[in-house]
Amino acid sequence: MELPFAEAYKIKMVEPLRKSTREEREQWIKEADYNLFQLKSDQVYIDCLTDSGTGAMSDRQWAAMMMGDESYAGSSSFFQLKETITKITGFEYVIPTHQGRAAENVLFSHLVTAGAIVPGNSHFDTTKGHIESRKAFAVDCTVDEAKDTQLEVPFKGNVDPKKLEKVLAENADKVPFIIVTVTNNTAGGQPVSMQNLREVRAIADKYGKRVVFDSARFVENAYFIRTREEGYADKSIKEICKEMFSYADGMTMSSKKDGLVNMGGFIATHHEDWYEGAKRFCIPFEGFLTYGGMNGRDMAALAVGLDENTELETIETRIRQVQYLAAKLDEYGIPYQRPVGGHAIFVDADRVLDQIPKEEFPAQTLAIELYIEAGVRGCEIGYILADRDPVTRENRFGGLDLLRLCIARRVYTNNHMDVIAAALKNVYDRRHEITRGVKIVWETELMRHFTVKLERL
Ligand SMILES: *Cc1c(COP(=O)(O)O)cnc(C)c1O
Repeated sequence: MELPFAEAYKIKMVEPLRKSTREEREQWIKEADYNLFQLKSDQVYIDCLTDSGTGAMSDRQWAAMMMGDESYAGSSSFFQLKETITKITGFEYVIPTHQGRAAENVLFSHLVTAGAIVPGNSHFDTTKGHIESRKAFAVDCTVDEAKDTQLEVPFKGNVDPKKLEKVLAENADKVPFIIVTVTNNTAGGQPVSMQNLREVRAIADKYGKRVVFDSARFVENAYFIRTREEGYADKSIKEICKEMFSYADGMTMSSKKDGLVNMGGFIATHHEDWYEGAKRFCIPFEGFLTYGGMNGRDMAALAVGLDENTELETIETRIRQVQYLAAKLDEYGIPYQRPVGGHAIFVDADRVLDQIPKEEFPAQTLAIELYIEAGVRGCEIGYILADRDPVTRENRFGGLDLLRLCIARRVYTNNHMDVIAAALKNVYDRRHEITRGVKIVWETELMRHFTVKLERL
């Protein structure tokens, strides 16, 4: 018989998990004002809040940390990191930063001015924030398919070339660069095809524009290209990454995702003028160019993490675990954004708790129910996160209302996936009894989801 798939590692250090009782969780979530961000991590059994900076490092990464060089200037760990990034991406200029949003801040300080238009595929919220705070505009050119959660298409994260071309035809002079997010986080961790990256490159060349990849999950994207796009099944992940980046002029990176480290980021490019421009902002914001807000030891761990994660066995283990959980939800008939993406499951809360009106926040209600059921912490990506319209101050109910369950890298086993799925099934089975949601009793004007206070109705 064919041997089943198994993880490409064994475990040699463990951290005990604390289970709790339903009564404890009811008390804790009440004390947290029904906001899961306000829970303490030891009040959580399985934490699916985010996959950002929550992964486990390998023995090789920990060993690299011991060898890290904490020099202010000319750290050998920086050169180790730079060499690895150049090997994987082809970019020869590298600026480290303390995380992804800092990379955006440094690069955009050089490139984005008031009135600029930055087209792309569903800009990540900090990316959008760094554009809009400079009084510039982020124009979303994602394919329409991304909006239909039940549609099965292989590359739902793509840029719509027609939408992109329209922006450039009308406003080319205002566009400093095009940004492509791989994978498309906001659309549900959905990949962008190589064909689409080529099309974006061709349009950029036609209008003489440059392209930045927001690369937080570039390895997951490469894995999807390998498994879903014709002509890539025999290529290595490193070869695919190299080709992807050959269509870009530069990248911003949150190393907390596919870098397999708990903190870090960087900018890389092959344009000297971008490097020179960004350098001026790295020094005041992040630190000198050979550390940019990172410890030498952390740069060393990142170099090893990037190298490890761009090996097929590592990334395959990661994606197959997310797919394992998705298959369980299929078995139980629980609706989620299809096909499942690289880092998380997005449960379609509007379809699960269809008796709860939008005004009572179904996805947040589902997140609370799942926590009380089993101590599993997810995250609302829905109407609370959407904030209010800045002009009318009305809630924005136009988008999707999802419960996101992120899977941390190399942290939980498939037994934990079984627990998550069973807990969701239990909530799903009693969904008709859940008829009331929550109401907001206190909120901030922007990014209210982190601190909002809620009451159960
Ligand atoms: C996480 C993320 C960022 C921001 O990175 P941080 O390290 O959290 O600052 C930017 N873009 C995408 C696509 C991300 O997933």
